[in-house]
Amino acid sequence: MPATPADKVDVEALAAEGATLDRHYPLDRFPRLADVLVTADGEAVARFHFLYAAEDVPACELMVEAVANLRCERCLESFRQPIASQARIAFVADESGESRVPEGFEAVTLDSGRLSLSELAEDELLLSLPVVALHEQGTPCADRGAQAKGDAGGPEKPETHRPFAGLKELLKH
Ligand SMILES: [Zn+2]
Repeated sequence: MPATPADKVDVEALAAEGATLDRHYPLDRFPRLADVLVTADGEAVARFHFLYAAEDVPACELMVEAVANLRCERCLESFRQPIASQARIAFVADESGESRVPEGFEAVTLDSGRLSLSELAEDELLLSLPVVALHEQGTPCADRGAQAKGDAGGPEKPETHRPFAGLKELLKH
């Protein structure tokens, strides 16, 4: 394998070969992902397997994983969370090709027939990030959160956060 493998690949040729490509990407190579991470250190490991989703519809099964350095929205400390994604993507030249994409595949328009492997890997990692980053259960942060919830006797309803509670009283007088 060459020292710097090509990023743009011909999906048709790879599907015809049934090729499998393995790639490692330093996370700081992904600008959109780096934007949402505390630090973009470490690397993503990706495997691309090319096949045909249907006749004349080249496709790729992608598996990508990394460890993301996220900021917990409860305690604001950074923590590391493994993220992983699997996707099955079928490549079409334009929207009219989408009708030929079988179920179980996501259609992606690729007018040039050439795919940027790193962009696809980055897209999938972005999709696999948690919507809200929080320390996992079993960590001191999560235990404190659970305890606070228990004390309030139900779902999050902090007594300390009722800006108008006192106002009513004031208006009475
Ligand atoms: Zn936390």
